[in-house]
Amino acid sequence: MKRTPLQVAVVCWLVVGCAGVHRFHPNFYSLDGDIRLGEQLSKEVETDLVLLRHSALNQLVNTVGRRLLDASPEPAFKLFPYSYHVVDSPEVNAFALPGGPVYLNMGIVEVCETEDELASVMAHEMSHVAARHATEMLTTQNLSQLAIIAAVSVVPIPIPPIAWEGAKLGYVLSLLHYSRGKEAEADRLGLRLMNAAGYDPTAMASVFRKLSEQQHSLPSVVERFMSSHPLSEVRMRDAERQSAQLERPNAAAVAAASPSTFPQVKMMFAKD
Ligand SMILES: [Zn+2]
Repeated sequence: MKRTPLQVAVVCWLVVGCAGVHRFHPNFYSLDGDIRLGEQLSKEVETDLVLLRHSALNQLVNTVGRRLLDASPEPAFKLFPYSYHVVDSPEVNAFALPGGPVYLNMGIVEVCETEDELASVMAHEMSHVAARHATEMLTTQNLSQLAIIAAVSVVPIPIPPIAWEGAKLGYVLSLLHYSRGKEAEADRLGLRLMNAAGYDPTAMASVFRKLSEQQHSLPSVVERFMSSHPLSEVRMRDAERQSAQLERPNAAAVAAASPSTFPQVKMMFAKD
């Protein structure tokens, strides 16, 4: 099929925006667009969130995040400025906005019994960012509208405005509902990331098992997490199988990691 110059331009445009894990997936956002959209969304959701400003806890999540990022085997992880925030909420949930902001509810931090388990949750969320799942999904949803804009304009496409519907946090979380394929990819990338950083990759499946048990004992606390991260038996077994197949990095490569402050931080928040 012969394409008009305009169609060729539109296709090039789609491909230009595709740096990252998926070099050939359509994404109308530039890398900078992911970052700016994430900044915009973080301002909005933080009006609905109470962030915990506890120095030892913040230092812990920053240290884990840096260790993961430094070891990243996939260059796409290094394209974004991650930031890590702990939300003062007992609800078990975690999410990441495009371009880098990662939010962990205290409820999910409390589920984790080791730093490796915490790292597995963070590595999964960071993988959504590196794979640009949010903007890929927005591109697909808006493809027809954006193609019309592209057809009448030769200037870079601005970030499409978000039409806020209801509570901002709830609305943003509803935007971040990923397909099973994207969740599976975030698990796979996250496992590789945590393994490269010297964390035990089997910790991801153990967090999944704990969350699955909570779904039976305290369903309301994990409801939102489960709706965005459905935990099927297949998903848990996949995490176990993939972690068993990973080649562990040699000890010298990860020996530089300083002793974990996880047990002390955990004690500080221990409930009577
Ligand atoms: Zn996810």
